[in-house]
Amino acid sequence: MAVPRILIVGGGYVGMYTALRLQRRLRRGEALVTVADLDSYMTYQPFLPEAAAGNIEARHVVVPLRRVLNRCQILSGRITQVRLADRRAEFEPHEGPALTIAYDYLVMAPGSISRLLPIPGLAENGIGFKTIEEAIALRNHVLGRLDVAASTPDPEVRRRALTFVFVGGGYAGVEALAELEDMAADACKYFDGLSRADMRWVLVEATDRILPEVGPDMGRWTAQQLRQRGIEVRMGTMLKSAESCHIVLSDGEEFDTDTLVWTAGVKPHPLVRAGDLPVDEKGRVRVDAGMRMHGTDFAFAAGDCAAVPDLTRPGEFCPPNAQHAVRQARTLADNVLATLRGQPRRPYRHKYAGSVASLGLYKGVAQIYGRELRGFPAWFMHRTYHLMRMPTFNRKTRIVMDWTLGMFFPREIVSLGAIEEPRKEFTLSARS
Ligand SMILES: Cc1cc2nc3c(=O)[nH]c(=O)nc-3n(C[C@H](O)[C@H](O)[C@H](O)COP(=O)(O)OP(=O)(O)OC[C@H]3O[C@@H](n4cnc5c(N)ncnc54)[C@H](O)[C@@H]3O)c2cc1C
Repeated sequence: MAVPRILIVGGGYVGMYTALRLQRRLRRGEALVTVADLDSYMTYQPFLPEAAAGNIEARHVVVPLRRVLNRCQILSGRITQVRLADRRAEFEPHEGPALTIAYDYLVMAPGSISRLLPIPGLAENGIGFKTIEEAIALRNHVLGRLDVAASTPDPEVRRRALTFVFVGGGYAGVEALAELEDMAADACKYFDGLSRADMRWVLVEATDRILPEVGPDMGRWTAQQLRQRGIEVRMGTMLKSAESCHIVLSDGEEFDTDTLVWTAGVKPHPLVRAGDLPVDEKGRVRVDAGMRMHGTDFAFAAGDCAAVPDLTRPGEFCPPNAQHAVRQARTLADNVLATLRGQPRRPYRHKYAGSVASLGLYKGVAQIYGRELRGFPAWFMHRTYHLMRMPTFNRKTRIVMDWTLGMFFPREIVSLGAIEEPRKEFTLSARS
């Protein structure tokens, strides 16, 4: 009899942790686990702001799937469609012909994508903050803008280079802005004629609060802290247009910038709508509390792409965050195994514990089990909590080494933006 195949779509939080648990608990020859992801690594997203700020080396916030999932089959490429009717998925490797993958059990975990609005100029001039590529490109870009500002006599070019706009005041936007501003303020010391006060950092948020994850009081406190640092926190304001990098806000203000970061929320990955999966009106996969897809006995989904009932808040669904994703993965793996072995599944249940956020070196804010922390204790908790959660001893050690080195040496201030065009000089040489 053929060994059943468990196909996991996405090797992020849910995908990687599910596969890890399955490879540990499956008996030899019981099933083959295939993980398909666009990348060959899992990204620990809560550390992206620290990677952007240069506190953690970029490679240390990603986990190589082939190393940790050494008993799974890893496929790098894009799943373009998943069908339940004939238990097949279409897969496009990065090169070569597409193939059809047959599976017996399915775990859908492609996560979410940035929720863009039809704002003129946004898609052309903005950048998101969800991937390691975006975080590092942004770090290089910000440092590159300081280089530009310090090397031009033109006040208009300088003003534009030193204006940084972030849209969306959730943890991704606030942490990214706060960490990058902190890094840029530090870097200014090394740029002739530049000081923190020359930069303009703007946070645009449509609602009347920021950082809802830490509660209203801590959100207000965070806004106050950012303002004390000279950051403009504009709540109740929307981005109307960003054509040619000319920003128009809903309060009528207009200005130019070279940096527009869009962190105004996420939506379930559109892949879940590309086949015949049961999807709700918000584009999430419909699952029961055991994360089994409605109408099936072999397909599961969890994380940002799924509407997992929150049993601690009847009638509600788990919000899209890592805290749920990592715990759902554990229950999900057990339920896949239980299904495989004809045993009963168990429901997922976790009471949201709260959130921690870093706001730059030694600065943070947190709300855990109703307890509010601010400043250094919150920052320390942010680092300790995420370090504990970071997969593998190898990654944990490397991150501690990065932090330790950072205590003794100043941060790197070099922009390696040119790394994105490595053949530029060579091509120029060929022309001369
Ligand atoms: C900057 C930032 C900071 C955050 N901080 C926190 C925090 O402090 N606390 C917290 O709880 N949460 C935080 N989150 C949210 C958290 O990271 C997500 O909720 C979590 O990653 C969701 O897990 P997931 O497995 O559903 O998706 P992901 O971890 O995003 O994994 C999805 C995977 O699917 C892959 N994929 C996508 N499309 C395809 C395709 N077509 N074919 C194959 N593979 C595909 C992707 O490459 C990715 O590896 C943060 C998010 C960001 C962006």
